Amino acid sequence: MLLYQHLGINEEGHLTIDGLDTAELAKEYGTPLYVLSEDRVRENCRQYTEAFRKYFPEGSEVLYAGKALCFKGIYPVIESEGLSADVVSAGEIYTALSAGFPASKLYFHGSNKTDEEIRFGLENGVGTFVVDNFAELEALDLEAGKRGAVQDILLRVTVGLDPHTLEAINTGKVDSQFGTPIETGAAMKILQEALTKKHLRVLGFHSHIGSQIFDCGPFCDQIDILLDFAAKTREKAGFTPSVLNLGGGFGVPYVASDPKADIAGNIEKIAAHLKAGLEKYGLPAPRILMEPGRSIVADACLTLYTAGGLKTIEGYRSYVTVDGGMTDNPRYALYKSAYTVLSAGRMREDADFECTVAGRCCESGDRIAENIYLPKPERGDLIAVLTTGAYNYSMASNYNRIPRPALVMLKDGKARLAVRRESFEDLIEREN
Ligand SMILES: *Cc1c(COP(=O)(O)O)cnc(C)c1O
Repeated sequence: MLLYQHLGINEEGHLTIDGLDTAELAKEYGTPLYVLSEDRVRENCRQYTEAFRKYFPEGSEVLYAGKALCFKGIYPVIESEGLSADVVSAGEIYTALSAGFPASKLYFHGSNKTDEEIRFGLENGVGTFVVDNFAELEALDLEAGKRGAVQDILLRVTVGLDPHTLEAINTGKVDSQFGTPIETGAAMKILQEALTKKHLRVLGFHSHIGSQIFDCGPFCDQIDILLDFAAKTREKAGFTPSVLNLGGGFGVPYVASDPKADIAGNIEKIAAHLKAGLEKYGLPAPRILMEPGRSIVADACLTLYTAGGLKTIEGYRSYVTVDGGMTDNPRYALYKSAYTVLSAGRMREDADFECTVAGRCCESGDRIAENIYLPKPERGDLIAVLTTGAYNYSMASNYNRIPRPALVMLKDGKARLAVRRESFEDLIEREN
């Protein structure tokens, strides 16, 4: 029921995270509150870094996809774990650099980098640009030329795979606004074009097939297509990639019935598949990059809410409202994502009351979970939603003028405020 080992129940029957009482945290910092275990983030990083060291060619790197959870405090943690980072906007670059993260370890993604963002990235020394399309290739070469620079790039290609993920979040299909497709010949053309650019140096290819992937199969299929493409670029363009970025996407369990990805086991299998493929084509071993977001942060975090009360619609169902919702977690509204919800202050009581957890926004889609079981909720109950580290804070909004929650980070049994709660003054600060 608790899903993760860093969660527990103490003598008072309260939910704990890293041994800390969630009721105490709620009392000290208020609700809604994101509670992030730094130790768990570090463990998640190590799942990747250790497997990478063991199985992938030297120089291979794990990049943290910052879009999953981007705030200053995450960057020193992932840097000290030896990860590089993906950024998708000037705002993410700014955040990473403000936290002292080295620009050389940034990989700049995005399907529409504006000219200002391209300049911002170049001025700040972003290590690698992941070029999405022809227009961007031109713009980047032009801007790099103005600076007399030669910018390292990867070309984002689409491999035409549908990994059948649980959510409408797969991006590797031919019909996609991300990247340049291999199947239509466009990827070969953009490579040939890129190789003529004096101010760009092509290191290799990037592709990302989707999210919430639990086994190595889709990655192996992706490798087959990428290696076949690499063999063709060697023949047609005289280009052999020295880097292959396989994207992100290993899944995490949100509810007990979800599978759990064996990250090290999958990486071992992906590496074996890669090795066989390289031998088949007689290609040299490229450095392998992967860019996990969700599987680094999702399970390290939970959100605490205070229940507003119970409303039973006779003949239909019962709703319990919480003091947050789609403003701090829009994933149910976006994808109908399942979550595990617990009554954090009443963990020893039977969860035998069926209810739907609704947020506080003026929007009937504002739900956190439907038809789940809790001890019969009462106003003031502490409600915990698990696995909220990814795509919650980073997707939070001020809809209905609701201030965004605070985020506390736990380390060595202590909590520290990493993001303070938004104030009303913050809400109107930019308004004249
Ligand atoms: C979203 C995304 C990721 C991270 O995906 P997760 O499912 O969070 O691991 C990595 N790379 C790219 C290009 C992405 O768009």
